Amino acid sequence: MVEISLHNTLTRRREVFAPLDPEDVRMYVCGPTVYDRAHLGNGRPVVVFDTLFRLLRHVYGLDHVTYVRNFTDVDDKINARAQAEGVPIGRITEETIAWYHADMDALGALRPTAEPRATEHIGSMIAMIGSLIARGHAYEAEGHVLFDVRSFAEYGRLSGRSVDDMIAGARVEVAPYKRDPMDFVLWKPSTSDLPGWDSPWGRGRPGWHIECSAMSFELLGASFDIHGGGIDLQFPHHENEIAQSCCAHPEGSFARYWLHNEMLQVEGKKMSKSLGNFFTVRDLLEQGWPGEVIRFVYLGTHYGKPMDWTAEKAEQARATLSRWRTLTRGVTAAAEPAPELLAALGDDLNTAGAIAVLHGLATAGDAAGLKASAALMGLLEDKHDWTQREVGAEVSARIDALLLERAAARKARDFARADALRDGFQRAGLIVRDTPQGAEWEAGPDFDPAEILRLE
Ligand code: AMP
Ligand code: ZN
Repeated sequence: MVEISLHNTLTRRREVFAPLDPEDVRMYVCGPTVYDRAHLGNGRPVVVFDTLFRLLRHVYGLDHVTYVRNFTDVDDKINARAQAEGVPIGRITEETIAWYHADMDALGALRPTAEPRATEHIGSMIAMIGSLIARGHAYEAEGHVLFDVRSFAEYGRLSGRSVDDMIAGARVEVAPYKRDPMDFVLWKPSTSDLPGWDSPWGRGRPGWHIECSAMSFELLGASFDIHGGGIDLQFPHHENEIAQSCCAHPEGSFARYWLHNEMLQVEGKKMSKSLGNFFTVRDLLEQGWPGEVIRFVYLGTHYGKPMDWTAEKAEQARATLSRWRTLTRGVTAAAEPAPELLAALGDDLNTAGAIAVLHGLATAGDAAGLKASAALMGLLEDKHDWTQREVGAEVSARIDALLLERAAARKARDFARADALRDGFQRAGLIVRDTPQGAEWEAGPDFDPAEILRLE
């Protein structure tokens, strides 16, 4: 069996992964708050944990991995957008979830086993909050219910800070009803214009953190294997999830391996609207970047390192994938991915190393091995083939004739003519490769046959 080792953020060590139950390996990843299109940074954890999901399915069996990723569909940002646009909250969340699915599907991410929505699990959140109060870990004050961080000795273990250090270093919301400034909200009151549910503490809505504790318990149990998310969630979100879950279910260990992906930047800078370098996944798809190319760029950097999105990387990814697609066209995948690929992925998800293995297979001309190995990383899948565009016979014959003409022009040292043809191909979105066997062509994602027919 392939050995998987993972860097566990909780213990700060590399550990060999051993699931609680190899028949049902269980993973929870924090999903999006659904009020807007996913940006390029949001796509990173999706592709990282999709790759881990694929690896686990390969090792433990397709039906032996349960992957849960939630939708946060109750949140003040959602309320604000609904109010600003004067539409019902449900319209915003439905629309955003549909966008999310379309965009993440385009990145080649498999749908998780379950995608629970917070609003469908309010009852279990209320039950968990009730049990935290009963066990002396939470208290009610002015219509709010707060978690008492001083009641949980291990609070701060994940982020490696004591409660006193946190108070000294953090901008905490001080509220008169809090016993300790670090106490966090489990439940808060809703006015009549906001979404709310009846509870023992009055009509209100949950704080953000409780949903992941309640839904992971419901779908994965009191102990499960892996919990993932972006490093920005480590504190306070994940710290609070641990506190809630371990105090409500002391019989379990909650998540045993914690994995955090580092953040994405764009051309060396933090992505921000004011810098004009803010992209949604949809923006890039609309600019003509195939989802597979975006996925490949993500996988080029280890998840534990900050990654930089650059146009240059994307160009290179497009060229590489286009070459590999030509090499593997019509080829049946080998029965098994290459052992070196599995070893790289098992090595704390060394995706950059795994891509180096794919390069090696391509260089060796092992098309069947390349196809099988790439498939394990969600690459070169037939259903995502963006290089295959229907090119009619007339256009195709014209391209062949123009390429012959270009070869003749080069031979005659008529470089002006050869360059003019090259520029025309580029305008048409035609990808041309010169190989020892002659020129090969392929219609790129923005291929425009009319432009070819206009070429003189
Ligand atoms: P949010 O909808 O803001 O809660 O974020 C959804 C997911 O995207 C979380 O796992 C975040 O950690 C992750 N995320 C947000 N921004 C970035 C970024 N710039 N780079 C990588 N991951 C990010
Ligand atoms: Zn969460």
